[in-house]
Amino acid sequence: MENSKALRTWLDDFHLNHPLVIAGPCSAETEVQVLEIAHELKNSDVTVFRAGIWKPRTRPGGFEGVGAIGLKWMQRAKEETGLLLATEVATPAHVRLAMEHDIDVLWIGARTAVNPFAVQEIAEVLRGTDKIVLLKNPVNPDLSLWLGGLERLYNADIKKLGVIHRGFSTYEKTKYRNNPEWQITIDLQNRFPDLPLLCDPSHIAGRRDMIQDVSQHALDLNYDGLIIETHCNPDNAWSDAAQQVTPTVLKQMFLDLKVRQKTD
Ligand code: PEP
Ligand code: MN
Repeated sequence: MENSKALRTWLDDFHLNHPLVIAGPCSAETEVQVLEIAHELKNSDVTVFRAGIWKPRTRPGGFEGVGAIGLKWMQRAKEETGLLLATEVATPAHVRLAMEHDIDVLWIGARTAVNPFAVQEIAEVLRGTDKIVLLKNPVNPDLSLWLGGLERLYNADIKKLGVIHRGFSTYEKTKYRNNPEWQITIDLQNRFPDLPLLCDPSHIAGRRDMIQDVSQHALDLNYDGLIIETHCNPDNAWSDAAQQVTPTVLKQMFLDLKVRQKTD
């Protein structure tokens, strides 16, 4: 990653307004749910609609995602709202399906980011792509492992790269679901000042009442964007119910957040 300046280009070309906002449900649940949320988010600060199609659960028995059928619902959401689409990919098969269904932004989740073999396999099927690829931090606070994953993607000639900070697991209980350890991303910014950096306040906070503060903290640290879990009926969400906000709350939050305009 000798030329991290090149990494900045896609963000500047694609999204001049700061910050880039990705929002949508933790998981696609039904076609109606996907379309309802997407319609609520159109004509807002949101540029990209997110939904998890394959859900990597820490323990078995939970909802593991609707699978490929959900990609069709997302495509319909894009046709109807003009929002771009983002989903998590964890295997080469996921990548192929996401590409076939016009997903614009592919992100690699925290549980996949810990595994160099998995990241390398994904990098190989993405080789040379002009899709936007975002790598979440690994669940553990290991900056080298995170950078290693990024280098695997960069070396596969994927140039529209960025990272998402979603906090780190700890055995000790903290007020966060995943401890932000902001210093790690400050180190990352110092080393790669042009690497697009997004914050996922939803998975850091784990509670909807903390999303705004975490988002503000990220913006104060000059983050380039936010990815925020958004659901029309958060309490009944099939995954991550406690941390999702309604589209109405999200829109109000963007009225209240203080966004520092980038001058360079
Ligand atoms: C998600 O974005 O819903 C998700 C599973 O995130 P993470 O990989 O950060 O746990
Ligand atoms: Mn989630």
